[in-house]
Formats: sequence, C-alpha cells, structure tokens
Amino acid sequence: MTERIVIVGAGTAGIVLANNLSDELADEIDAGDVAVELVNDTEEHVYKPTWLYVPFGEKTPADATRPLAPLVDDRVTLVIDRVDGVDTESKAVSLASRGETRPYDHLVLAMGAQVTPEETPGLAEGGHHFYGPAGATALREELSGFTEGHLVVSVVGVPHMCPVAPLEFALIADAWFRDHGLRDDVELTYTYPIGRAHGIEAVAEWAGPLMDERDITVETFFNAERVDPDDEVIHTVEGRDLDYDLLVAIPPHDGSDLVRDAGLGDDGWVDVDPNTLEARGADDVYALGDVADLPTSKAGSAAHYAAGALADRLASVARGERPTAEYDGKTVCFIESGTDEATYIAFDYDESPVPKEPSKLIHWSKLGYNQSYWLTARGVL
Ligand SMILES: Cc1cc2nc3c(=O)[nH]c(=O)nc-3n(C[C@H](O)[C@H](O)[C@H](O)COP(=O)(O)OP(=O)(O)OC[C@H]3O[C@@H](n4cnc5c(N)ncnc54)[C@H](O)[C@@H]3O)c2cc1C
Repeated sequence: MTERIVIVGAGTAGIVLANNLSDELADEIDAGDVAVELVNDTEEHVYKPTWLYVPFGEKTPADATRPLAPLVDDRVTLVIDRVDGVDTESKAVSLASRGETRPYDHLVLAMGAQVTPEETPGLAEGGHHFYGPAGATALREELSGFTEGHLVVSVVGVPHMCPVAPLEFALIADAWFRDHGLRDDVELTYTYPIGRAHGIEAVAEWAGPLMDERDITVETFFNAERVDPDDEVIHTVEGRDLDYDLLVAIPPHDGSDLVRDAGLGDDGWVDVDPNTLEARGADDVYALGDVADLPTSKAGSAAHYAAGALADRLASVARGERPTAEYDGKTVCFIESGTDEATYIAFDYDESPVPKEPSKLIHWSKLGYNQSYWLTARGVL
C-alpha cells in the first residue's frame, strides 16, 4: 500500500516541505511505497517579501512570481486546484474544479494567511497597503504623486504576515522622501495597537529611538475601529481621531474557512502542537507556515525551518520509525532601516532576539537572500 502525504498550499511552507520530503524519501517514492502530492490553487509561486519594495519603484510584482512547476521536484505530484473541503473522518480533501476527493494518510495544511481589509469599515476605500500585488502597485502610484501631507503607516490587524514589515515601510519611506527632497513637506506617523512600537519587546526598544531620530511620530495603543475615507480620518477604539492624507494600513488577516469548517481552529488558524506541528483537532493532520497558530512570527523563515523539521518527522513516520525531529520556533527576520542599512533578529521559542547594529552588509545580505530565495523554494538552501 502506498502511503499518501497530501500538502495543501505551495507557498514557502508547502514547497519547501514537498521538496525536502522528495529528497528524504526518494527511495520510498521510487519504490511506490510513498506518494507526495502538492495541491495549489494557482500555477505560480509567490515570494511575498518582494512586495515591500514595489511602492518605492525598486521591484515589480512580476519579480515576486515564478511558475510553480519547475520549482517542484519531479518526485512530487503537483495538482493545480483549490481544496474546498477537508474531511478528517474519512481522511480526504475535495478539489473544487475537479469535483473529486483525494484520500490522504497524512495531511499538511499550508494555505498561508489572507488579508481582509473589508473587516474594518472604510479601510478598503480609504487605505492602501503593500500586502498584495495589486495593493502594492496602487500604492506605488499614490506615492509617486505624494509630495506633501501626512502619511500614516498603521498596523490595523494583528497577527499579520512579517511583523517587522510595517516598521521597515515607515523607515524606508522616511529615507525615500529625504532622497526626493520632500521630507520637510511630509509628516510621518506610525501607529501600533499595543503600548509599544512592536510586539517583540527588543524590536520595540530598538525601533523607538530610531523613529525619534528620523522624526517619525509613534502612536501606541492605537486600534483602528473605522476609517472615514471622505474626511480622511482614522477613528480608534480608544476614542482617538487621526487625520491622514495617505494611509498605508496593514489590514486584518484571516486564516482559512477550511480550517474552521474542519473543526481544526475556530479562528481560521490551525491549533497545533508548536513542536510537532500536529493538529490538536484531528489525527494525522499537520500545519505549518502562516496558517498554523504558532507562538512565533508569521514569517517565511519560520515556515522554512518548520518545514525542515516536519519533513524529518514525516519521513520517519513513513519509514515506520518514531519521529524525533521537532520545530524549536527558529525564526530569522531582516529589518531594513531605510538608508541602505538593515539589521536582523534571530530567535526561537526560548531565546528572545537582540537586534544587531544596522549595517550596509546586512542590507546587502537581505537583498542577496531575496535573490537566492528561489533556491530555498527548491529545497537547496
Ligand atoms: C509585504 C510582505 C513582506 C514580507 N517580508 C518577509 C521577510 O522579509 N521575511 C520573512 O521571513 N517573511 C516575510 N513575509 C512573510 C512571508 O511571505 C510569509 O510568512 C510566507 O509567505 C508564509 O508562507 P506560507 O507557505 O505559509 O503561505 P503563503 O506563502 O501565503 O502560501 C500559501 C499557498 O497556499 C495556496 N492556497 C491557499 N488556499 C488554498 C486552497 N484552499 N487550496 C489550494 N491552495 C491554496 C496559496 O495560493 C499559496 O500558494 C512577508 C510578507 C509580506 C506580505
């Protein structure tokens, strides 16, 4: 009998897992003992970190996208379709356009996160964001014509993908307006929902003085309740009003209805054991990447390291061995500080991060990594 591993979603988490499994289980797959199937709803693989650079004209959405099939190892069966149902009793997923079900022995959910600006009244009409190709392109247009006024960068929804990206955006925007000789005419404000500039304390401590130095006002305990697009005002739960001329908001995020419908997590994120990545709501179901409810950042690096651990675990299970590999929460995030410099943080479930002194070397390392990402997706790096 062939043991079937089905992975839903071929973003960073799903593709790294599939390629690692094909490497680790090459003999078993060749012998017909194991089959790895990767299901994705588009024919493309997207590297989302590229979108940060689109509003500033440094990248285009096309730079973030490559055809999926050549990135996936030949031993993996790639299926282009949308999974529209998960039945953990009969152990099968259903495919929307084929109208058929696929049985699994082990199911891995890696559907990522969705942005839902419509959840905050007025936000979709009144705000811009760089958390998708269309949004980043529209923001590019706005920024190129923005020569004076109040630019507000507001973190509306948490958790969100790449927790440091809003800070990066504010710092890059500051440098960009300086380069264009416009900084004296542009007021910059950054808002965050809790009582400091970032959820990770060490990042907040690092960013606070830097934002001060760069004349970026930081508003904390700022939870947008609604946006008035006509009057260009953000109204908060705390009863404050903030005028803007250009609003760049990090929209609320959502997991997946598949998760809710399958009883794997009420809020759309899969409730998992943080080390084994096993879903708590069903047997032989795992989750990793942004759709997993893990006590770390929703970051590609976390997805990458978690995929390595899960590949080891699933390979052991497929060979009838006891799985011992565990994900320790390892996450590494570069943080652009705007003026051709960057820092980075590395942490896990036990170790808190300590941001390094920003340097040009780290900035170039981030850009270099972004180029070599496609090898990561292939499972090479
Ligand atoms: C602007 C921005 C900047 C970022 N910068 C960084 C950074 O510098 N460093 C970093 O580590 N991370 C960064 N991230 C976060 C990183 O991109 C995500 O954490 C990462 O993409 C998560 O990978 P994933 O595989 O879980 O989800 P995704 O990459 O979102 O992939 C999910 C896949 O599942 C597919 N899918 C969804 N639903 C279905 C379904 N029902 N059926 C079939 N397929 C489905 C989707 O089409 C997609 O291919 C950034 C994110 C953004 C938005």
